[in-house]
Amino acid sequence: MPDGLRKLLSDDVIRYIGVTKISGPEHKLRAFFRKTLPPKERKLMQGEQMIGHIHSLESFGTVDGPGTRFVVFVKGCPMRCAYCHNPDTWEMAGATDMEPSYIMEQYHRNDSFYQNGGGLTVTGGEPLVQIDFLIELFELCKKDGVHTCLDTSGIMFNPDNAELMKKYDRLAEVTDLVMLDIKHIDNEHHLDLCKQPNTNILKFPFYLQEKNVDMWIRHVIVPGLTDDDKYLYDLGYFIGQFHNLRALDALPYHDMGKKKYEELGIDYRLKDTKPLDTKVLIEKKKVILDGIKKRREELKAAGESFEHK
Ligand code: SF4
Repeated sequence: MPDGLRKLLSDDVIRYIGVTKISGPEHKLRAFFRKTLPPKERKLMQGEQMIGHIHSLESFGTVDGPGTRFVVFVKGCPMRCAYCHNPDTWEMAGATDMEPSYIMEQYHRNDSFYQNGGGLTVTGGEPLVQIDFLIELFELCKKDGVHTCLDTSGIMFNPDNAELMKKYDRLAEVTDLVMLDIKHIDNEHHLDLCKQPNTNILKFPFYLQEKNVDMWIRHVIVPGLTDDDKYLYDLGYFIGQFHNLRALDALPYHDMGKKKYEELGIDYRLKDTKPLDTKVLIEKKKVILDGIKKRREELKAAGESFEHK
């Protein structure tokens, strides 16, 4: 029996299946046995990994974190942002099941492309819906010295759940960068925009700072929905307090997801909204930066230092 297979199976399972001639890549063998073994024997498979429910993989991402990135799009999201351009990731149905080791195999096929300060990013959908899978994947990345980036809305964060927080602590150990998409700084508007409150989302940056995880803030500017200067300034004032803030990505609303809504038969609330003009984007980003600056001036006057490590 090949070593790869021997490694996967306990003696009981080998006795059960009675096969001696089967070979192939480990992820394929695992998938085969997961499908064919009855539940009791399946549990005896050795080194069983968490399964990720994946929408797609992209080998050369350039907008999903620093450098060139291998991007994992996961399925599942409890938010319903009006401007979401990936509504096809909302539901778990239609996912492709993949193990962390399979994803690492795919990453290493193009290893050299990520040497420019790149790495692996998980986005979605909402990656933290599958936190157990995410932990295993990022742990494998760290073993291989791969930079890890999590692109999240923060909606799954819940500091009141002690069991869950143990998982977040494990994840923080192996996460280099979190790109936190704050959809709206005001809770009422957040509820209207995403059908979920932002209460716990706004607690997430405090946790990331405590854990020394670098953070980029992303904010999509949608005409008529998230472009009010008062809230943009408030957003800047809020994020200005965090010492782990490394960048601000103000992103223009675009309507490239429109077609997907038509295909999925979902009503698109922004059908009459025009994409954001680049000139306006620059002005709006400046308002956020003004808020950051103001907060930092106040904190520096109170004795805090914002020197980068
Ligand atoms: S959090 Fe992201 S994936 Fe989920 S609905 Fe909003 S934009 Fe779409």
